[in-house]
Amino acid sequence: MLCLGVESTAHTFGCAVVDGDGKILSDERDVYRAPEGKGIHPREASRHHMDASSEVLRQSLESAGVSIKDVGIVGYSAGPGLGPCLRVGAVVARTVAGYYKKPLVPVNHALGHIELGAMLTGARDPLVLLVSGGHTMILAFSASRWRVFGETLDITVGQLLDQFGRSAGFASPCGGRIEELAKKSGNYMQLPYVVKGNDVSFSGLLTAATRLASKQDVADVCYSLQETSFAMLAETVERALSFTGKKEMMIVGGVAANQRLTEMLEAACARQNAKFYACPVKFAGDNGAQIAWTALLEYGATGKKVPVSDALVTQSWRLDTVDVSWRRPVPA
Ligand code: AMP
Ligand code: MG
Repeated sequence: MLCLGVESTAHTFGCAVVDGDGKILSDERDVYRAPEGKGIHPREASRHHMDASSEVLRQSLESAGVSIKDVGIVGYSAGPGLGPCLRVGAVVARTVAGYYKKPLVPVNHALGHIELGAMLTGARDPLVLLVSGGHTMILAFSASRWRVFGETLDITVGQLLDQFGRSAGFASPCGGRIEELAKKSGNYMQLPYVVKGNDVSFSGLLTAATRLASKQDVADVCYSLQETSFAMLAETVERALSFTGKKEMMIVGGVAANQRLTEMLEAACARQNAKFYACPVKFAGDNGAQIAWTALLEYGATGKKVPVSDALVTQSWRLDTVDVSWRRPVPA
């Protein structure tokens, strides 16, 4: 069976066609770019998505070499995310599903990151670090749900990097530019390192790094910002590995593209005897394939679908409230 997946939680409007074996037949995206120095504006991003949606949808079918009639189900990202953006994806999905009489499957976006990562890497029962614009969470699967073993108490690591970068005059998203500059430095300057229990807090670090950048070399601050925030993540991941006893660890989300972060996590995994997996960079950020694949898993396991009139979105839909029936406990 083929699934058309629609993603629109934040900056990306994406459509993809995936088959029941996990083959990604197409993955088309159009990304909203905020004006220089500015963050994502939900209304502007949703306008972008409305303008981009028909072409992205058309391209996703064309590059998959299928017609809409060949599609078995339609999945859409129902949250968490920015309300105006989510609603565009939901409307596109319900229009297609309603008109062509296809089952419509709402998908939790965070679950999409994890399930696509697991399918692409082959990880079976990993401790997951989900690090993106919208998430900083350490999760492990237990008793039918992804349980949280650590998370941010304030802003996400993606927001830390993007807000710092914008204050330094970089265009958003800023993670890639910060990584490039950090590679040019090895000069560490002390910044607030805040781990509480197994949770992290980045807001004090953001304020301190932003202040420092007005006085010091910006490459040194980028380096120090990465070293501090990534060490906080590596410490909490390592403690969660030790606590849960998981023998696999997987990083997903846009920040997974960062080599320094993956290096630190690999070292933590080696100390805990866990195998490290990173979602391929191309699919680490937001995309329609993660939604299509998760909709296929959900529909295959439960047959659950919603009437188009119930194709709702939930801006703050937490992953640890979602029952996941297709994952089976992995024998030790
Ligand atoms: P997502 O919300 O999953 O699409 O991820 C977007 C986030 O990933 C943004 O905050 C980006 O700044 C961040 N990001 C992208 N590339 C990198 C990188 N090379 N290093 C660190 N962060 C990155
Ligand atoms: Mg995301």
